[in-house]
Amino acid sequence: MDYFTETYSLLEEAIELTLSYFLNTEKRIHVLYLVTSMILAFYVFKVSNIKSSFLKYLFPKKIWLSKSAFVDYSLFCFNSIIKILFIGPYIIVGFYISFYTNEFFVDMFGFPKSSIGLTQGIILYTIALTVLNDFFSYIIHLGMHKVAFLWEFHKIHHSATTLNPLTQYRIHPFELIINNVRSIIIFGLVTGFFDYLSANQIDKMMFLGANVFHFLFLFLGANLRHSHVKLKYPKFLEYILISPFQHQIHHSNNPKHFNKNMGSKFALWDWMLGTLVLSKSVGRISFGVDKDDSKFDSLFKNLFNPFKAISYSIIRKIKKSRSIN
Ligand SMILES: [Zn+2]
Ligand SMILES: [Zn+2]
Repeated sequence: MDYFTETYSLLEEAIELTLSYFLNTEKRIHVLYLVTSMILAFYVFKVSNIKSSFLKYLFPKKIWLSKSAFVDYSLFCFNSIIKILFIGPYIIVGFYISFYTNEFFVDMFGFPKSSIGLTQGIILYTIALTVLNDFFSYIIHLGMHKVAFLWEFHKIHHSATTLNPLTQYRIHPFELIINNVRSIIIFGLVTGFFDYLSANQIDKMMFLGANVFHFLFLFLGANLRHSHVKLKYPKFLEYILISPFQHQIHHSNNPKHFNKNMGSKFALWDWMLGTLVLSKSVGRISFGVDKDDSKFDSLFKNLFNPFKAISYSIIRKIKKSRSIN
């Protein structure tokens, strides 16, 4: 295949992948979850006594047609190319890790005397995968905020000045790859361990159980996390699960809210490690990272800003060390 045909088929594949997100039940923006999010938004609209029509409330032009939103849309499409080239071919690594994890336990402890039952296995496997994935997603998110060079990449997500469900996909390709490496490793280790415990019944467990929590999370308004709809949970629940408004607080440009509510599904990690902020304690918020929004108002700037910032900081350090010497 010549270069032109290859590029053309890559672009075709990328468009297909991008559009498939609206029909893939594992993806947050599947039409069903968009509809359930709208129903929850209607509830918020009603209880907030908003004067405008519901449609105007849900689709304000200044949010959906903002420069920031167009960066979200373009990164969402662009990242499909990254997924095809740098993630798709490596998903299989998860199964290799699982295979070798199982082998490792067999070598260490021999075959288990009795295996766990299917129902018990499905429940435990689903819980283990959900909790571990969520915990490591919290840890990596914390790292993204605390380690200077990682923050340069994660900043792209936070540079959104308006939020809509596609802001979820406004992440730098480098962060996208890190997140996928994390879930491939966790999937491999947990699946291998349960394959060992269940005398190789893991296929059934994966098929029957692994997505229950994820489905509930998506079904119950996950899309509102990146939106202007302030859906809050009752106080006690916000210690356990991150509500959409709690994630909006995570995007707040008020320094008081920096590095808070970093959990993905569970708020427990934030609670345990002192980074939790409850919805009740927060009033109006606005979003973004810099006073100068124009630094982040195009796809190109968002892709290259981190490299520019990191190189400048290295040059500054070199200059400084030379002037000291
Ligand atoms: Zn963050
Ligand atoms: Zn976010």
